[in-house]
Amino acid sequence: MYNISSELTTLNQNYGLVGFEQNDGYIFYGDLKLNHKYNNISLKNDLYISMFVPFSYPNELPIVKDITKKIDSEFHKNKNDILCLACDAEMYLDLKTREDVTISDFIERFLLPYVYSYTYYKKYSKVPFGDREHGILGIIDFYKDYFKLDDRHITLQFLKYMAFEKYRGHNLCLCKSGKKLRNCHGIDIITLIEKVGINNILSDYNMYLEVMKDIKQQEKRKRMAEYKIIQQKKRLEYYLFPPKSPFEVSISKFYERYIK
Ligand SMILES: [Zn+2]
Ligand SMILES: [Zn+2]
Repeated sequence: MYNISSELTTLNQNYGLVGFEQNDGYIFYGDLKLNHKYNNISLKNDLYISMFVPFSYPNELPIVKDITKKIDSEFHKNKNDILCLACDAEMYLDLKTREDVTISDFIERFLLPYVYSYTYYKKYSKVPFGDREHGILGIIDFYKDYFKLDDRHITLQFLKYMAFEKYRGHNLCLCKSGKKLRNCHGIDIITLIEKVGINNILSDYNMYLEVMKDIKQQEKRKRMAEYKIIQQKKRLEYYLFPPKSPFEVSISKFYERYIK
C-alpha cells in the first residue's frame, strides 16, 4: 500500500506543499506554482490550495480546494471551491494503471494541467487541450472516448452493463459489431471495472439517471404549464367569441344559398 509520509519532503521541495496528518489522511496547504510549457506556450501562475489526500490513495482520490477563490466559477469547479480536475473514472484509470503511483503523479497529471488550462483560458478565452463538458455530459464523453465509440446512447449501454450485469465473454458486444465481447470491447470493460471499480461506475450511471429524472420532471412541469395556458386561451376565446349556435349557422347558410 502507498505510504504518504514517504513523499512529504518531495512535495514540500517540489511544490511548496506542507502536509499535516489528519484522521483519515493528510491535508496539504501551499501556493502551487505553475511554470509550464505546452505546445511552445509558456505560462506562469500560482494557486493557493488545500489538498486532502486519503490514506487509501489511489483507491480514493485527493480533493483540491481553491482557498482564495481565484478560479472563476464558470470554469471547472464544484461546490465549495473544489476543483473539477477531470472525471473520477479518468483519474482512477490513469493513476491505478501506474506502478508505484505517488501524489506527485496526481499533481503532474491532473492538478498542474488544470492550472495551466485555466491560465491559458484566461489569456486566450479558450482551452489548450480538448475540454469536456462539466458534469454528467463530460463523464459520458469520457466513457465514449475510452471505448472509442461515437454514439452516446451505446456508451450508456456500456455503463449500464458494467454497473448491473455480470461480465460474460461469450455475450455479444454492446457496440453492435456482431462480435463476442471477448473478441471486441471485453478487455476494455474488464480493465475499467478493475481500475475504476463497480461502485464508481455505478455512481456515474446513477448520476445520469438522476439528471434524466430531473429533466423529465422539468419537461412534465413545462407540458403541464403549456396545457394550462392552452386551456385558458380556449376559455378566453370562448368567452370573447362565443361560437354561433347551429341554428344561426344554418340560417346563414340558408341565406348564402337562397337569398344571395
Ligand atoms: Zn468540470
Ligand atoms: Zn465492441
